[in-house]
Amino acid sequence: MTNRDYYDVLAVEKSATQEQIKKAFKKKAAQLHPDNSDTGDEAAFKELVAAYEVLQDEQKRQTYDRYGAEGVKGTRFDNSAGFDVNSFGDLGDIFEYFFGGGGMGRQSRRRNQPERGADLKYDLELDFLESVFGCEKKVTIRHLEDCTECSGSGAAPGSSPVKCQTCAGLGQVKQTASTLFGQFVQVLPCPSCDGEGTKVDRPCGECKGKGQLRVSKSIDLKVPAGVDGNSRLRVGGAGDLGRKGAPPGDLYVVLHVRPHGLFKREGHNVHITQPVSFSMASLGGEILVETVGGPKGLKIPAGIQSSTVITMREMGVPHLGNPQKRGDQYVHIVVETPTKLNEEEKQLLRKLAELRGESLTLANVDMAKDTQHSLFDVIAGVFKPKSADG
Ligand SMILES: [Zn+2]
Ligand SMILES: [Zn+2]
Repeated sequence: MTNRDYYDVLAVEKSATQEQIKKAFKKKAAQLHPDNSDTGDEAAFKELVAAYEVLQDEQKRQTYDRYGAEGVKGTRFDNSAGFDVNSFGDLGDIFEYFFGGGGMGRQSRRRNQPERGADLKYDLELDFLESVFGCEKKVTIRHLEDCTECSGSGAAPGSSPVKCQTCAGLGQVKQTASTLFGQFVQVLPCPSCDGEGTKVDRPCGECKGKGQLRVSKSIDLKVPAGVDGNSRLRVGGAGDLGRKGAPPGDLYVVLHVRPHGLFKREGHNVHITQPVSFSMASLGGEILVETVGGPKGLKIPAGIQSSTVITMREMGVPHLGNPQKRGDQYVHIVVETPTKLNEEEKQLLRKLAELRGESLTLANVDMAKDTQHSLFDVIAGVFKPKSADG
């Protein structure tokens, strides 16, 4: 560990008051804490903690002043077993500053640091078109709020929580553990009061001493256009209320989109299968095609084949956060072969075949005409598509 002078580490005068030392430490700790992504420095932070551990204690400080670092050896900061920031009496607020009140990880959270409320998750099902164009939804969630009967204290009206006897109100207990590397002190949340430091002897009847109750709350949600089944909406502060005035958690609304009978979504694009009659496919024309925005006219070119895809520009899904921009709709054409023909229709089609020189049976094929051709060639010839002038 360091050999630097502890007063230099904290950048205070030898005559500094306890208040000045504490202030200097807070300021430096904020700069050097490893969780500070800009100026964090773990080694420097440890050095700072070691210096503060000695100077904040009048007795250790006197020893240090008289005998230097050697004199205060024997504190756990002088070995490499690490340090325990929990041993500081009243610096919870520093760590709150870093961790947003959430504490330094679970095991080292102190009772004085209020814990942020839990985040909640809500599953919301949307219709396909609601996801495309957005919608407004009212959802009812159940989250924790402070009990109004006891104002969150958990104690019956007229009484108040009392100091926990096990931990003397500290909310934590120390345990000395011996390991190969030496002894060190472990600080654990008090098992008797769950780290609260206080206990309720006359619990509030309404919340059974918990101080909080799960209550229903209605929330108006605005679902933006263009969301999909991977989208999550965050409603800040709508989660469980934190304990002892700590900030509430957030509500995460997880969206699920019901599939649509016609539209298939792929990113911002929409696919649709569009049947087209044999006559329409042959002659061309205009049809109404469903789009997410309602039916729209679409020109069908003459002679269109099945599996042709026609693109309808900007008829797809609006971009999330930029709804003026939209994907396309892809229309997959399926030419329908007419079925259930009546006699007149059959005659017309036979006439059409005749006009186009199409053979409908093998009877019309003169097999003997060219003996060079195999039967396969003959059959292939029958089914060969006619050229436009044939
Ligand atoms: Zn209550
Ligand atoms: Zn306790």
